[in-house]
Amino acid sequence: DNSTTRTLKEYHREAAELYHHILVNTQLGESALEYLHQRGLSDDLITEFQLGYAPSKRLLMPFFSEHQPDYQLLRKSGLFVESQDGKLNDRFTDRVMFPLRNAVGQVIGFSGRLLAKNDNKPKYLNSPETELFNKREVLFNFDKARVEARREKSIVLFEGFMDVLAAYRSGVKNGVASMGTSLTEQQVYTLARATKNISICYDGDEPGQNATKRALELLNSVERFGLSVITLPEKLDPDEYVKKYGAEKFADRVHHGKTGELDFYFSYYQQDRNLTNEQDQLGYIDDVLHELARSNDPIEQDLYLNRIAERFQITKSNLETQLRDVRASLQ
Ligand code: ATP
Ligand code: MN
Ligand code: MN
Ligand code: MN
Repeated sequence: DNSTTRTLKEYHREAAELYHHILVNTQLGESALEYLHQRGLSDDLITEFQLGYAPSKRLLMPFFSEHQPDYQLLRKSGLFVESQDGKLNDRFTDRVMFPLRNAVGQVIGFSGRLLAKNDNKPKYLNSPETELFNKREVLFNFDKARVEARREKSIVLFEGFMDVLAAYRSGVKNGVASMGTSLTEQQVYTLARATKNISICYDGDEPGQNATKRALELLNSVERFGLSVITLPEKLDPDEYVKKYGAEKFADRVHHGKTGELDFYFSYYQQDRNLTNEQDQLGYIDDVLHELARSNDPIEQDLYLNRIAERFQITKSNLETQLRDVRASLQ
């Protein structure tokens, strides 16, 4: 740590404390607190994650000014936007604030969520790239999840902050989320230092399932992880699932409803296909054989070939031939 990053971290720590104070102790934060309660978050959880509320563009400057701040550093902190005349106004206004932390729990940025839908503003707003904050590196809740991973022997990937929190209050504390972008290589290296077992629990909608496929491919390209997928029904995201079916059902799904990578692909490739149609069947079989070709477990292969053979009434030896062809084409 040089003195610049030390000071920037101090500003972030102070901002997080102030946002949190405003949320839980002041009238300014009342509607935001009400919003979070409505979304199922308890006061304990709000405190544990130091969630906050950013009310207006004139909050942080008067606050920092009391302690002789370094204006050049405030300008670089990402906490402000500069007006035409060089004034620093708060970047986050009228948003619920999620502090983003590095691996050792220091606040290095924020994401702020609107309380209500507004077509002119993004639902979530992240800190800009700064000396502290690189959104390709950060994983929300990684500081807690990596500790939890020692007990659980795994980490669960989610799409959103609210999903991580919904999981957390269901007792699944080893969850992380990337910053609204798809999973990056840097994040995978970070994960690999904490665990070799990763479960993916993205939203049950089509974008979520496509993102699952991309995440599996990326994870496989970096390291030999033990990978599994938790799929949610009815296009629900984890937060919605907890709301609809309860925390217990969710935790149960995470612990016992995991499927292997191949099972994921077997259902993934059914998307947008009518498997009573011959052309669609052929495309489907080709797609799953391509996934199966990457497996070097003969028993696993046998199992899945049997499944395909049975389901589509194909001779297994024909499937074996095609699998060999596919494999040869991949060499
Ligand atoms: P919520 O439940 O609060 O509506 P969500 O997590 O279900 O949020 P999604 O639309 O599924 O929201 O997006 C997943 C994640 O992508 C969010 O948690 C956030 O990190 C990011 N994200 C969503 N919308 C935006 C946006 N407009 N700008 C930047 N990031 C976004
Ligand atoms: Mn989504
Ligand atoms: Mn979602
Ligand atoms: Mn959601």
